[in-house]
Amino acid sequence: MGHQYELSRIEKLAESLGLLSDRSTGTSKQRQGTSGAVNRIAAPGELSSYPDPETWHEWVEYDSTGEPTEYSVVPTACFNCEAGCGLLTYIDKETGSIRKIEGNPEHPGSRGRNCAKGPATVNQINDPQRIEHPLKRDGPRGSGQWTRVSWDEALDDIAGEMREAIVADRGNEITYHVGRPGHEEYMDRVIQAWGVDGHNSHTNICSAGARAGYGLWHKYDRPSPDFANAEFILLLSAHLESGHYFNPHAQRIMEGMQDGGQLAVVDPRLSNTAAMADFWLPTQPGSEAAVLLAMANVILDEDLYDAEFVRNWVNWEQFLDEEFPDRERSFDSYIETIREVYAGFTPEFAAAESGVDADTIETVAQKVGTAGDRFASHIWRSAASGNDGGWQVSRTLHFLSVLTGSVGTKGGTAPNAWHKFDPHLPNEPPRQRLWDELQLPPEYPFAHYELSQLLPYFLKEGRGKLSVYFTRVFNPVYTYPDGFSWIEALTDEEKVGMHVALTPTWNETAYFADYVLPMGHSPERHDIQSQETHAGTWVTYRQPVLREYAEREGEDVEFTYEANPGEVWEEDEFWIELSWRLDEDGTLGIREHFESPYRDGDGDDPAKMTVDEYYRYIFEHEDNLVELAAEKDMTPLEYMKHHGAFEASENDYELHREPLDESILDADDVTVDEYGTIRRGEKPSSASASDGSDVLGVMVDGEPKRGFPTPTGKQQFYSRTMAEWGWDDLEYTVPHYLKSHVHPENVDYENGEMVLVPTFRLPTAIHSRSSNSKWLEEISHNNPVWLHTKDADRLGLETGDLCRVETEIGYYVNEVWVTESIKPGIAAMSHHMGQWKIDRPDNDESDVQEGGDPYGKVTVDLNTEAGRWGMRQVEGIHPFESDDSDSERVWWTDGGVAQNLTHAPHPDPISGMHCWHQKVTIRPAEADDYYGDIYVDTERSFEIYREWLAETKPAPGPDGLRRPKWLKRPIAPPTDSGADAGWFVDGPIGRPGRWDPESLSTTADEE
Ligand code: SF4
Repeated sequence: MGHQYELSRIEKLAESLGLLSDRSTGTSKQRQGTSGAVNRIAAPGELSSYPDPETWHEWVEYDSTGEPTEYSVVPTACFNCEAGCGLLTYIDKETGSIRKIEGNPEHPGSRGRNCAKGPATVNQINDPQRIEHPLKRDGPRGSGQWTRVSWDEALDDIAGEMREAIVADRGNEITYHVGRPGHEEYMDRVIQAWGVDGHNSHTNICSAGARAGYGLWHKYDRPSPDFANAEFILLLSAHLESGHYFNPHAQRIMEGMQDGGQLAVVDPRLSNTAAMADFWLPTQPGSEAAVLLAMANVILDEDLYDAEFVRNWVNWEQFLDEEFPDRERSFDSYIETIREVYAGFTPEFAAAESGVDADTIETVAQKVGTAGDRFASHIWRSAASGNDGGWQVSRTLHFLSVLTGSVGTKGGTAPNAWHKFDPHLPNEPPRQRLWDELQLPPEYPFAHYELSQLLPYFLKEGRGKLSVYFTRVFNPVYTYPDGFSWIEALTDEEKVGMHVALTPTWNETAYFADYVLPMGHSPERHDIQSQETHAGTWVTYRQPVLREYAEREGEDVEFTYEANPGEVWEEDEFWIELSWRLDEDGTLGIREHFESPYRDGDGDDPAKMTVDEYYRYIFEHEDNLVELAAEKDMTPLEYMKHHGAFEASENDYELHREPLDESILDADDVTVDEYGTIRRGEKPSSASASDGSDVLGVMVDGEPKRGFPTPTGKQQFYSRTMAEWGWDDLEYTVPHYLKSHVHPENVDYENGEMVLVPTFRLPTAIHSRSSNSKWLEEISHNNPVWLHTKDADRLGLETGDLCRVETEIGYYVNEVWVTESIKPGIAAMSHHMGQWKIDRPDNDESDVQEGGDPYGKVTVDLNTEAGRWGMRQVEGIHPFESDDSDSERVWWTDGGVAQNLTHAPHPDPISGMHCWHQKVTIRPAEADDYYGDIYVDTERSFEIYREWLAETKPAPGPDGLRRPKWLKRPIAPPTDSGADAGWFVDGPIGRPGRWDPESLSTTADEE
């Protein structure tokens, strides 16, 4: 239940003036509509900021002299973060080019709004040094020598290498490694068609910690908060400046606050978000779970919990059976027991751990408790990705949602899958039956997901090799910790056979590729995207807008690169063409999945699927879209091409309470167990052996309900799965507090050590794709070290002074920014700055110059000898000549410092998350230190990798399993198959040799 609040005089005055919405009638909360309609920011007719969709192809704007410009306005979706906001591109009909980009008011997630990075897409398109043609290496890898090739040459060569690996049963030597996906299941389908287990992502340097914590509760591994309807919001992040689903979430947090909701922010840094909050809790990094458990303790002590929800929807009986079998199995006994379990987590204890005062912790706890089912929360990276044991932070945060009964409620926090579009795909291939141990090795059965950050060390240990390695919008040399180990791996052709970089921009990883293939920015390619931005489900259509414009004008376009600048292509068509050539005669069973679902071919030659047919199929299988399009006298594909987005449903709340047909209970093979779990078939031998599909629902008050997709169908307060894999202490089986690797006990403050928080970004930074945007780089282009005044005084440093920051594997040199906006004893530094290109003095011979996005990449001199790497900036940012006269007006010289290069690998032994926080020593720079200097010892980083690896509890788990079957993993092998499907440690791995951890070598695979 939510609490009542009194409006202040100022609020009442603001409401009477129309500055705030009238909360007495709740008008701003009630944005109801029918499914398929768009939640507009204002009623039709009032919205003068955007042209009416009916006029988009004949839109005219007048400049200040009264001259008209005729536009065709074509929608697409932003690709500059994961939020997938809608964009409108304004194509000047006279020049045929994109003149400007604004928000798409038809998009239900972003509702016409964008952050700075959306409109800046136009800079990326006009980047004077963008890659416009396919390039092939023309010298040693990493030498900077390139030659231009045709798409045909590149496709044939790559397909030939892949075919050789697949035919030789080395299919798992093909790996697709993605940074920014931006699509819904497109690549899952392609990789499955190849029959390999080749998906790798960036998740373990991003969100694996948060995912593991949420996943243990209910399999769903992401939160979907209903901020706009919340009465109290708790963020462990900086949503209002850059957090996850930045713009769609930020606008809804503000709506919730305008409606009287309050905001608390946990962050050692006074972020712009914390500055807007009602409560700022500047925690010692790593202490967050202790603070959250103290809040749980207060909620339990003050009887603020939702007894109905906890009793009916939490596996408390199993907890008592397994951990306290001698106690009475009653709900009251459970509550008493968990009061005891968490008794030590008093506000005073949390205050001692976190440095936040106990009264504030208690007050926020009471606010959370009284908000009840209107309590919304979020964490994605932040503390969950900074700390060893960070997965317990999201798990304890969700514990507050469970205690308050706010799971999936209006104003609460739902599982993400309730608000995510699930497309029906054409010609779906079966799932692969292999398990790739280079992606998910036996040491990490709970990882969410692939251990991507450890790939260089796995290769160094001899666990396998890569025959064809695709990196797609992925730049580990710059983005990942210890990028020099990535360079060592990528330059070793024994370890990485063919490296194909699919990228819209030059980047530090593409410099070490064999092929650099230019892929489109958001208005230059196809995708669909759907994200859980609020309590509804939408899908947006990213499309190549110049192609759509050409087609509106009656032109035929066969491939997207015909309409894009140069020969810039798109992934969708590239993968269709590559897969077709990989299996030209159809004998590998791959080609059939790329045949047209609508057309027959010629004789024995089937018709190849077009990208229009692919999306037509998906859209025609979404009933609400079919209906909406028909109302407009359009096909579903025409509707999406014209409007760019569609709302599949809204106000999806409390889906776990959906009733099941009672007749389900009459089936012979359906049973209800002692926990009320309704199950089809035999009860699995372990919780880990259940993939969730055997669980049909749960009995609640004598009625069958949908429940959650876990082994009990309930919220898993207690994780039997953890216990089955040897993590059987209470610290692991229930939400708890694990001391981080940067806990004060592990930091030698006496001798000058500090904690570095490197997990935040500036709102204008796009991982490694901002450096081609003149507007974004002009706004922010450096990342000084934040130091509190006390620390700066202690170290004798002032703002602008150079300091040396020593990590476990090296150091970097950067400027200091002295501020009160950081907790004393903590240093902070934004990532996503300090991009670099290599100084190429001898490169005049090459017929293609390697580019470098000169708005944001500094030029460096790179040296290496026996695992020791040094980097020195030899040229900063400067004006340059190009077709864009702005390039000669560049006034900044600073490009920042690439700190991630100096970070040691820290894989969390359970979630697999790279624990970003670093123990560092900061001191004034030495006499021969220069701004941006970097030094790293990769031999030491390898040793640290091995130290962290030793903390794992490797598979096998119950029955020889590699991983609990019910936990999520992208593109998992089929769980209902036998031992030949890869789920078991002795199952097929698709490589010639098995890794032997004892010998640091491979041994013959006995199979
Ligand atoms: S939040 Fe900004 S960068 Fe992210 S999708 Fe929206 S407009 Fe693009």
